Amino acid sequence: MLEYHLPVMAGEDLTSLTFAQLERWAATEGLPAFRGRQLFRWLHGRVERDFARMTDLSRELRDRLAGKYRLHLPEIVEQRRAADGTRKLRFRLADGLEVEGVYMPEQRRRTLCVSTQVGCAMGCAFCATGSMGLVRHLAAGEIAGQVEAVRRLLAAEGLERPVSNVVFMGMGEPLHNLEATLAAVEILLHPLGGGMSRRHLTVSTAGLVPAMKKFVERVPAKLAVSLNAADDEVRSRLMPINRRYPLERLLAACRELNLKHTDRITFEYVLLGGINDGDDDARRLVKLLSGLSCKVNLIPYNPLPDSSFRRPRQQRLQRFQQILLDKNLSVFVRRSRGAELAAACGQLVTTAGGGAGRRQS
Ligand code: SF4
Repeated sequence: MLEYHLPVMAGEDLTSLTFAQLERWAATEGLPAFRGRQLFRWLHGRVERDFARMTDLSRELRDRLAGKYRLHLPEIVEQRRAADGTRKLRFRLADGLEVEGVYMPEQRRRTLCVSTQVGCAMGCAFCATGSMGLVRHLAAGEIAGQVEAVRRLLAAEGLERPVSNVVFMGMGEPLHNLEATLAAVEILLHPLGGGMSRRHLTVSTAGLVPAMKKFVERVPAKLAVSLNAADDEVRSRLMPINRRYPLERLLAACRELNLKHTDRITFEYVLLGGINDGDDDARRLVKLLSGLSCKVNLIPYNPLPDSSFRRPRQQRLQRFQQILLDKNLSVFVRRSRGAELAAACGQLVTTAGGGAGRRQS
């Protein structure tokens, strides 16, 4: 069960409450539980943010709620489109801060990558978001709201099932903002809310081991672990979190989760030319993952301006993949969609609202 933050104070935003929380909220308003269920459906099933249009609530109730609570939806303030249909989206939040997301339509699925924090505290060396530091966590309604804002936008363009898959791989470390991430997942999976299938929702982590365990115990979404190196020295250089949760501990946790969970874990591996793309790295990776039910996504690095990292050579990438394939690992090379928009993995960053450079922790 999720932790509840009730009673909700007057003036607060109701969009972060899960289905069960809204039922309980209704009781605090002296209303029957089904009023909470109706509101949940309006907010997250129909993406309505105007009490006045919630026509199955009485006029008196609509007026009372409108005078007391806020209903926020992140505003899409910028869209940039690539030739392959990828869109980089900038969302403005109620306090003026902004986050980015990426929409990637393909033949059989339409994937939206969402953010969970403004900035990020993890400080991964190859990541633009990491260079911002953490500005603040997003609320559950702001995370699920990115999906809802895009659903609304694309439905207005006439698209049916505008978002089929959601990945929590945008700005921020989702498990550093665990409660809001869990609530957002619950909202998106609920049949009266986002109505998504659990197989189509993936949350990515840099490897916060204790939070990974809590995550799989509490929601059924899929987990991806951003690995990026197969030895501690390199990984600690790329991802400071590795000093707290080194590879042995991280992989032990993954094995434990794997036993409880029927899903295969996905390991993301950003290939950086000359850093982690050698034959020895590939062999170490094979050893590290032996016995785990998993798949590996290889992501060739997308160079940032002023970055000291470079993209791996195509030949290196193929050789690295082949070493993994020869040991019967499931390996996929991810095309860098949106690279021309600086929308590819590790390239999301915002400066509006004073985001850049402010570090909270
Ligand atoms: S790669 Fe992910 S966890 Fe690392 S700094 Fe970037 S957003 Fe944060």
